[in-house]
Amino acid sequence: MNLSLSDVREKFSSSLTVKIFSICFLSTHVPLLALVAYLVTGFRSEALPILLLVLAATLVGTIFCLACLWQLIRPLHQVANVVEAYRSTGTVKLVHSSRRDEVGIVTNGISVLIGELDATLSQLRRQATTDVLTGLGNRRWLKEIASLEVNRAQRERTPISVVVFDLDHFKQINDQFGHDVGDQVLMMAGATIQHCLRPYDIAARIGGEEFCLVLPRTDLDAAITIADRLRGQLEGKTVSPLPKGRVTASFGVYRGDPASETLKTMLTEADRKLYTAKNAGRNRVHSDVAPSIRDRRIKA
Ligand code: GH3
Ligand code: MG
Ligand code: MG
Repeated sequence: MNLSLSDVREKFSSSLTVKIFSICFLSTHVPLLALVAYLVTGFRSEALPILLLVLAATLVGTIFCLACLWQLIRPLHQVANVVEAYRSTGTVKLVHSSRRDEVGIVTNGISVLIGELDATLSQLRRQATTDVLTGLGNRRWLKEIASLEVNRAQRERTPISVVVFDLDHFKQINDQFGHDVGDQVLMMAGATIQHCLRPYDIAARIGGEEFCLVLPRTDLDAAITIADRLRGQLEGKTVSPLPKGRVTASFGVYRGDPASETLKTMLTEADRKLYTAKNAGRNRVHSDVAPSIRDRRIKA
């Protein structure tokens, strides 16, 4: 077998086994090398100096061995910290090793895999919580996020309102113009809602043609204004081939009391007002306020 110098260098830099073997070989030979050097330079045959020399050389060999092995496994320590940080806090801290041996491959591989895992999980989380048609959050997302807002409103004693609304006679649109036109109406509604919201408002599609807004730091009057503005904007949109003004929605607005009500209760109350709006002729906003807040106002 004909091994050139570059083959040896390549073998050395890409094989952990060769590195460990070389380190062990060199470090175990330090005492022998020291003894040879001693014999060559200043030969004295007394046992004590030879013994001391061999002991000192063994110590040097051991330190050399440990230092080299530490250097060898250092990237594994770094990648272990990366794994630990990701598992405990979800923080992605990537590391890179320029080594081409197994330690370098494992270090870079795990680091890249953690980055990919995190990106995939984020994408899956997004897909599991987003409504594909409108780009709004779905009911699951609403429950998670809006419950946090209700808790925050309770802690900070700030008002919170919810709006539930439903497109009017949507089934007729599907029946007369087809499901695709119905889908376009839903997409238009999603875009209009997103355009209408403040950065901290929460919007979700909670059913076929039913939507919900959770409005933090918003009292009843402000919530009614937002709902009515959205109602007017939907009414003003055109989705071909529907005539202008064909897409309307009915709204139920409810200012909840975060101290005594859950998100579920607030949604039920807003839903109740939505149905009074439907029964009153549709394309309108009906509202209510939590009884506890009404009582406080009357006393004040
Ligand atoms: P109302 O004014 O009382 O709300 O009447 P409506 O016709 O809007 O209500 P209804 O509940 O009778 O009909 C809702 C329709 O929404 C029925 C269903 O086929 C349709 N729908 C639900 N999801 C989708 C969807 O993703 N795309 C389309 N195109 N239609 C959908
Ligand atoms: Mg409807
Ligand atoms: Mg409906």
